[in-house]
Amino acid sequence: MAPPVSVFRCLAFGLGLLATLTGARAQNADIVFFNGKIVTYDTDAAEALAVRDGRIAAIGRSADIRALAGPATRVVDLGGRTVIPGLIDSHIHAIRAGLTWRTEVHWTGARTMAEALERLRKAAQTAPKGSWLVVAGGWIEGQFAENRRPTQAEIAAAAPDHHVYVQVLYVSVLLSPGGLEALGLTNHAELASRVKIETGRDGQVTGWLWGDNRTISDLYDLLPRPGFEQKLAGTRAFFRVLNSLGVTGVLDPGGYNMPISEYRPLFQLWRERALTVRVVYSLCAPRPGHELEDLQAMTDAMPMGFGDDWLRFNGIGENVTWGMYANDNSTPADRERLYQVLKWAVPRSLTATFHWHNNRTVHHLIDVLERINRETPVASLRWSIAHLTDASPESLQRMKAMGVGWLMQNALYFRGEAFLGQRGAEAARMTPPIGTALRLGLQVGGGTDAHRVMSYNPFVSLQWMVDGKTAAGTPMRAPEEMPTRLEALRLYTLGSAWFAFDEGKRGSLAVGKLADLAVLTKDYLTVPVDEIGSIASLLTMVGGRVVYASGPYAALEDKTPAD
Ligand SMILES: [Zn+2]
Repeated sequence: MAPPVSVFRCLAFGLGLLATLTGARAQNADIVFFNGKIVTYDTDAAEALAVRDGRIAAIGRSADIRALAGPATRVVDLGGRTVIPGLIDSHIHAIRAGLTWRTEVHWTGARTMAEALERLRKAAQTAPKGSWLVVAGGWIEGQFAENRRPTQAEIAAAAPDHHVYVQVLYVSVLLSPGGLEALGLTNHAELASRVKIETGRDGQVTGWLWGDNRTISDLYDLLPRPGFEQKLAGTRAFFRVLNSLGVTGVLDPGGYNMPISEYRPLFQLWRERALTVRVVYSLCAPRPGHELEDLQAMTDAMPMGFGDDWLRFNGIGENVTWGMYANDNSTPADRERLYQVLKWAVPRSLTATFHWHNNRTVHHLIDVLERINRETPVASLRWSIAHLTDASPESLQRMKAMGVGWLMQNALYFRGEAFLGQRGAEAARMTPPIGTALRLGLQVGGGTDAHRVMSYNPFVSLQWMVDGKTAAGTPMRAPEEMPTRLEALRLYTLGSAWFAFDEGKRGSLAVGKLADLAVLTKDYLTVPVDEIGSIASLLTMVGGRVVYASGPYAALEDKTPAD
C-alpha cells in the first residue's frame, strides 16, 4: 500500500497537470491576424498579431503567432494588407455630429457639384414634403470640379418640394426660396440684425446669408431638432462611419449649443455597451458670465477622469470662458475671469483645452496659462490649445515650456486658398508648423474639427499633413513643415492618445495594449501620396471587438449588444 505522501504527490501532480492544461488553453488567442504588415512604432514591421481578452497578446512572425491559435480562435489571413493602430481624432465634434447625422444630407467627399446636388435630390425622395433638407457643412467649393458654390435655383430644382439649408463652414448659409420665412428669422430680431443678406449685381437677393461663427450657429438652431430616437440612431450611424475609416477613438470638445442634455444619446449607448468608438469628452461653459459656477455645478458629480475606457470625462473646454474663446479683442477682465476658473481647476486636476485661432492674439491666452503655471506647474494636467493653425515658433515654445500640447487640424485643407489670399505664400509655407512642433518635442494630436468645418475623414487629414495640399490641390506648406507618413500617423494615434492620458494603453500596436486597430484597403506607407485620402478600413477592432468589417472580412463583424 502506498504511503499517504505518494498519494499526495500523485494528487499534486494531477492538479499541476490540470493547471498547466488550463493555462495552455488560456494562452490561446481569441483572434489571430497573420500574413500582413503590422505597423508598430518600436519594432520592425511585424507580420502577425494575436488578440486575447481585448488586448494585444503577441506580435511577431506569422508562424509563431499562428501557433497561439486554439480550436476556438478566429484566424484571419491579412493577405499582405497593412494593419495600423486605431486612429484617434483629438478634436472632433463627434457627439454633436451624431445628434443630427440621420437628419442631414452629407456633401463630404463629393467630387462634383452634380454629385452633391444628386445627394440632395435623393434625400428629397424619402423626406416628407415640406420638411427641411440640411447640409450642415463638411464641404467646400474647392472639392468640386466646378470649383464654385451652388445657386439658389440649383438647390430649389434639386428639391422643389422641400426647404433646403446649405451651410459652408461657419461663414455662410444658402436657403431655398422662402427659406427665411420658413426658418422664422423674422421672429428673432436680434439674430436677424446680425445676419447679412447677400444681393447679386442685379440687386436681387441670392439666397446666401453671411455671418460670424456664432450667428451661423444660431441660424442652424432655428431648424427643427431631431427627436431622441433619431439622435440615438444618428450617433450609432456616425460612429460606424468613423469605424469604416479606421477611427477607434475621439476626443470631443463639446461646442456651441451643446447643453448636457444633448449627451443623453451618447450616455445611453455607453450604458447599453453599444459604443463602437472610445469617447473622451470635455465640457464647455454653457453661459457667458457664469462660467465658474456652471463648471463647478457640472463637475461636482463628475470628477476628472470619471468613466471607463469607452467613455470618459476629460476636463473642461474648448470654451472655458466665453471672453477667452478665440477672442482677438479680449480685455484684462476677460483674462482675469479665465485665471479665476483655472485657479479653481488646478487643484481638481482638471485638464483643459482652449479654442484659439490667431497666433497674433494667442499671447493673451498663453499669458494667463503662464501666470497659473508660475503658481502651480500645470504640465501633469496636459492642457492643450486647439487650432492655432498659424502658430509661431515662439508660441509653440512657450506651450512646450509649460507642458501644454497642441491639437492640430487640417483646417487649411478647406481654407487654404483663403489663407493664401490673406497672408501670402511665404506665411503659408510654415502653416501649420507641424515640422517645427515635432522638432521642439511638443505634444501634438492629429484631428479634423469635423463635421461642420471639415470632413471627418482621417485619411484626408493624414494626406494633407504629408502633402500640404488643399481640397482644390493647391500646394502650401514647405517640406520642412511636412511630417513623414509615419510621423503623421503617430500624431493621429499616440499623439492624440496623450491628451486622453492613454498613451500607455492605446495609440500603438504593442503587447499588453488595448486591441484597437484597423486593416486597411491600401498600404498607407507605400501608396502614392494622393491616394492616401481614399484609404478606408476593411476591418476595425476596438478592444478586441470587430466593430466594423467589410469585403473579405464582412462575416467577422461582432454585432453590438443593442443590434
Ligand atoms: Zn474649436
